[in-house]
Amino acid sequence: FTPQIFALNISTTATDQSLRHSDPPRVPNLIGGSFVNSQSSEFIDVINPATQQVVSQIPLTKNEEFQAAVSAAKQAFPSWRNTPITTRQRVMLKLQQLIRRDMDKLAMNITTEQGKTLKDAQGDVFRGLEVVEHACGMASLQMGEFLSNVSHGVDTYSVREPLGVCAGICPFNFPAMIPLWMFPVAVTSGNTFVLKPSEKDPGASMILAELAMEAGLPSGVLNVVHGTNDIVNAICDDEDIKAISFVGSNTAGMHIYARASATGKRVQSNMGAKNHGIVMPDASHDATLNALVAAGFGAAGQRCMALSTVVFVGDPKEWEIELVKRAKSLKVNAGTEPDADLGPVISKQAKERVCRLIQSGVESGARLLLDGRDIVVPGYEQGNFVGPTILSGVTEDMECYKEEIFGPVLLCMQADSLEEAIKIVNRNKYGNGAAIFTSSGVAARKFQTDIEAGQVGINVPIPVPLPFFSFTGSKASFAGDLNFYGKAGVNFYTQIKTVTQQWKDLPGGSGVSLAMPTSQ
Ligand code: NAD
Repeated sequence: FTPQIFALNISTTATDQSLRHSDPPRVPNLIGGSFVNSQSSEFIDVINPATQQVVSQIPLTKNEEFQAAVSAAKQAFPSWRNTPITTRQRVMLKLQQLIRRDMDKLAMNITTEQGKTLKDAQGDVFRGLEVVEHACGMASLQMGEFLSNVSHGVDTYSVREPLGVCAGICPFNFPAMIPLWMFPVAVTSGNTFVLKPSEKDPGASMILAELAMEAGLPSGVLNVVHGTNDIVNAICDDEDIKAISFVGSNTAGMHIYARASATGKRVQSNMGAKNHGIVMPDASHDATLNALVAAGFGAAGQRCMALSTVVFVGDPKEWEIELVKRAKSLKVNAGTEPDADLGPVISKQAKERVCRLIQSGVESGARLLLDGRDIVVPGYEQGNFVGPTILSGVTEDMECYKEEIFGPVLLCMQADSLEEAIKIVNRNKYGNGAAIFTSSGVAARKFQTDIEAGQVGINVPIPVPLPFFSFTGSKASFAGDLNFYGKAGVNFYTQIKTVTQQWKDLPGGSGVSLAMPTSQ
């Protein structure tokens, strides 16, 4: 096995029919700088959601292999943390260059395993690449503070030190961006890392790990292990792991938050969402409709910042007619096809779940303005496709509203005033993002102040902050104190040490005082 061959195989499966049926490649772990095949007897298929072909298989990594990965990370830590920050930054500088070089390979892998369109897959890589670029400035980001003469001849300074071994647990929906939210910030600030990619689409993580090694990351600084619940629990329980970054569903996220916190670890847990867009009667017509269609159906609705619910203030009828017209014109196809606007959802089970939630909406009284459930895509009849679907007259008690659907389904609600619309949004348990579409500064300002969501868009449908800010979901969409990337991300992966030093000619013979030292 060589990692390059692995990457080649997975990147050609979208077009090479013969590879789909023969022995799928087994995805190795990366332990201590070597890509090694697991000795496990249990493997899970990685399935192309547009074709059902088996792209590769991931192992349910054995406990001793996991221990070897943590031990490699632990051994690599002392010398890596003492490596000059400029050297660590240069690895990131090289990594960002290599990611650009291999952008097409990464995107093809993502489309093959995850299903999103190639253009969207490039966006997935690019939004992660921006975090790598940001990590190139770690020297400034990690600076401590200094205050001289806090007392006579005494100075105090604080330094931000790495924690040790950190771990990342990833979801399926952004196979490149989310690993890149994690390990570049962690390792550039001096930590070593164990990454657990999603079992559904591990390929991008493997290519990124290969690139990180090529960029000069020393052996053991980044390790990758595959598996599902058991390995996640092992990460939560391991005493050598100091911090866990998690992105995924609430079920897994709250379990991990509780279990890992109980062992004293830091945890940042980004979870599910139900993002609302409030449309005011004065909103710019065309721009708003385009934004709603793009943010509702892009990536087949499988974005944690997808706008899955619209609240129209006033009469929704004209808006809804136009929405249906535009949604109907979207092309559903395999992500590798150049005309595709949206690809399949990740699995057969995901499709069944999406369809069940649509049906439950209908049964509880919502009007199905557009039904994408029976779509068949020529040439990809086996794919998990769901076409754009629009439900109108949705109310807060409906299951389709209470659950995160994570599919190309837009729910339409109605409110009589901005106040009422804001109350609807605030009653929802999630708080990842919310947007308003309006030409009124007064309405926008009220929305920004009163809305209970961590990321607010004003005429911006998916307000995901760039890496110099942080990703700041709130309420049930986040557990922890320090968010991903930005200043908070650096703070998450570092702890403060505060040093007080005294350099003065000590006055002789002043005696010993046992009173609390003060500088009065
Ligand atoms: P998921 O929770 O099923 O899986 C995420 C990770 O957790 C995987 O690596 C998986 O192996 C592991 N896992 C799953 N169930 C587990 C369990 N019971 N015990 C231990 N480990 C478990 O999530 P997913 O389906 O891959 O991703 C979709 C979800 O992620 C959506 O809810 C979406 O909103 C959310 N998401 C959130 C953000 C954000 O930043 N808030 C970003 C992307 C995705």
